[in-house]
Amino acid sequence: MSDLLALAQKAALEAYAPYSKFQVGCALQTVNGGIYTGCNVENASYGLTICAERNTIFHAVAEEGPLMKMVRLFVICLGHEFPPCGACRQVIAEFSLPDGSTEVTYLSAGKPVTRTIAELLPGAFIIPSRKSCSSSYSSPVAP
Ligand SMILES: [Zn+2]
Repeated sequence: MSDLLALAQKAALEAYAPYSKFQVGCALQTVNGGIYTGCNVENASYGLTICAERNTIFHAVAEEGPLMKMVRLFVICLGHEFPPCGACRQVIAEFSLPDGSTEVTYLSAGKPVTRTIAELLPGAFIIPSRKSCSSSYSSPVAP
C-alpha cells in the first residue's frame, strides 16, 4: 500500500463516528507537494456530519490557500469499502487539476482502485465566472 493509503488508514483511527460506526480516513497530496490527512466527524444532528474527504480538503485549503489543487487523494473506511460520496466528489472536483485528472483511490474487494475525478464525476457543476479558480473539465456551456 502506498504511503498515502497508510496515512488515510491512520487518520481513520481518529474518526469521530459514534452514530454510523464508519471510521473513514483520507490523505491527499497537493500540486505543491503538501500532504494532508483528515477523518470523518459526525454530529448528533446527522446533517452537520462531515466526511473525511471534505475535512481533509478544507484542511489543505486552510494551509495552502484558495488556489490549492490536488494531485491525488486516498480514502479508506475501516471494515468497509466504498468510493467517495457525491458531495465529496463535487468538492474534489472543485480542487482538482484543470483537466479532471486528479486521482482518487479507494478500496474495492480488498484492493486499491484508482479513478480520475472526471471518471467519478462527469459533468461536475462549475460556475463559469469562477472557472479561473476552479476545475474546468466537462464544464457545461453557460446559458
Ligand atoms: Zn463524502
